Parts: sequence; structure tokens; C-alpha cells
Amino acid sequence: MTPLNLYDVSREQLRERLGEWDINPIHVGKLWNYLYVRQVASVDEMSELPPRLRARLRDETTLGVLPAALTTDSADGFTRKFLLGLTDGRRVETVKMRFTGRVTACVSSQVGCAMGCVFCATGQMGFTRHLTAGEIVAQVVHVSRAVKLAAPAGTPVASTRVRNVVLMGMGEPLHNYDAVMHAIEILRDNTGLALGADRITLSTVGVVPGILRLAAEQRMLRLAVSLHAATQAERAALVPAARKWPLDELMAACRAYSEATGRRIFYEWALIAGANDTPAHARAVGALLAGTPAQVNLIPLNPTVGYDGAPTPVPAARAFQRILSEEFNLPSTVRQRRGIDIGAGCGQLAVTERA
Ligand code: SF4
Repeated sequence: MTPLNLYDVSREQLRERLGEWDINPIHVGKLWNYLYVRQVASVDEMSELPPRLRARLRDETTLGVLPAALTTDSADGFTRKFLLGLTDGRRVETVKMRFTGRVTACVSSQVGCAMGCVFCATGQMGFTRHLTAGEIVAQVVHVSRAVKLAAPAGTPVASTRVRNVVLMGMGEPLHNYDAVMHAIEILRDNTGLALGADRITLSTVGVVPGILRLAAEQRMLRLAVSLHAATQAERAALVPAARKWPLDELMAACRAYSEATGRRIFYEWALIAGANDTPAHARAVGALLAGTPAQVNLIPLNPTVGYDGAPTPVPAARAFQRILSEEFNLPSTVRQRRGIDIGAGCGQLAVTERA
């Protein structure tokens, strides 16, 4: 029988398992604390659990800690990229980003990606397999443990916590819907990693059935949609998935999500010089989104070897932003570019073995 990966189960599922083992479910709280607050690396460290429970855990479960094959730091010290090993020998990349006073974990949901966005290194790799919920959760634990290890002795636990998780690493999260939703349930548990609705961002290329399912299930999270173009023809050239899920269907699904949850949507726009960054493009996206609960995140393109587009210079990005704000009253940000020197920026993750 395949051992149960402890990161694969919710607290409720763990409680049920203890019941099946005829062990008092009261111990689930301490076990959960070992997994997600103390973040121990083995069952041997769970010394306060009853010996009978520890024996069961040793015999019938595994702690799916992901070993780091490679760790790379950006020159500015704000970004660290981990190449993490999976049990089948595959690898994924996970990124820790430090902004003022908070740490964000950017995690992967698949090995590779089937969506094939032209400017994305993961898309250029193709698709290998989905990650399990436990493999997604384990990435957050890995980042969290790294933060704790790096903190000076005596740092309060609260200030070493991972504050935000973004599902923007390798893979399309809505293509791996069930595992991703289960992982989110585990991440949100308020006695563990305690990442609330506004702390988890799910980024999708525009998988319409997945967005409609999020709406129907009223999933509370920060939904980020990679738009990149405001006409069907231009979008389909950058994002092949747009041929399957056209722009009008995508916008209808986004409206459904906002109506069902009352939440605004973050539209991601990779600014590519000469391709989608002119005032006319700004007005097109402004007209598309005006009056909807939206924020546009402008991200000057990050370089990848398989695509020769260039990032929009900062003054043109600011001009784009001014049009959105002054002519369409649309909030927007120009994203800080982080970790570009170590291939850890948006669209750059691709399981590199060397820095
Ligand atoms: S941008 Fe996202 S959806 Fe597109 S290929 Fe890359 S990982 Fe996949």
C-alpha cells in the first residue's frame, strides 16, 4: 500500500485517520502543529505524540518534505529560487520573494505546462505531470522553513511566517483543479499555515471551465487572469489557450466569478515592447475592463531563451498606466521585477540545474 503523504491530507482527514487507527482524535491538533507550525522534517521529531501514534505514522505515512537540489540567490538578496526534488525524480522550481516586512512563496502546480504561452519558459518545456496537493503544500512548507532558518535567534514566530502564496510558478493551476483546491484548503487552515482568502493568489491563463467552477463553488481567493491582449486575434497569438477559450467567453467567466464572490479580478499584462504596449493597446484594455471590478498588473516582460521579445521601458509602462487611470479610472500597478538574474521572474521558471 502506498504510504499516506501527511502533506496530502486536511486536518479533518487526519482526524478521521486517527479514528480508523483507534487513536484518540484529540492528538490531531498537536500533530498538525508539528506539521505546519513547528514544521518538523521527520516523525522522529514529534516527540510529544503518543508512541502508538508515532509508530503508525512511521509505518503507514510519509512526510513529503521536498529536498532542495539547488538553491540560488538573486544579487539583490530579495529572491531565492529552490530546485526541489519530487519522489519520482522530477523537479520543480519554487521561489521565495522578500518584500518589505513580508515573504511571498511562488509555488508550482505542475511539472511543466500544457498551455504553451510563447514567452514563458515553462510553456516552452511542455507538460510532464500534475503535482499532488501534498507536493504543492510541501513547497510552501519548504519556503517557510527556509525563512525560519534564516531568521536571527529570538525572532518572533509571527514575523517569520510566509504571508502570501502565489500560484504563479510552473504550470496552470486550473488545469490541476482538484489538487490545487485541496492544497488551498490545507494552506488556509487557521491552526496551521493560516493563509486567508486575501493571502492566496491563483493565476490562470484563462481556463474558462475552471473559472466558472471557482464561481459556482464560490472559492474565495485572489484570482489573477493573464490577459496580455485585449482582442481575440492578438491574444491568441501570445496565448494559445485563447484559441480554445476565446476572449468573450473568458470575460463572461470573469464576470461570473466577480458576481458570485464579490471579488475583483487582477488582470496580468506582460508588457512586450512594440507588441502590446502602445497607447492604443492601453485604450483597448481600458475599454474592455472599465466599469468591472478589476485591477491591471503590468509586468515588463522577463527574458527567456525561447522568445525574443523585449520588455517595455519604464517610461512607456508608466504612460500605459496613466491612460488606464486617467481615461478609464482603472487601478493598476507596474510590478517590481524580482529575481530576473536567477531566472526566477514571472514566466522564467523551467527547472534549470545551474544558476
Ligand atoms: S505562463 Fe503560465 S499558463 Fe502560460 S505556459 Fe507559462 S506556466 Fe503555463
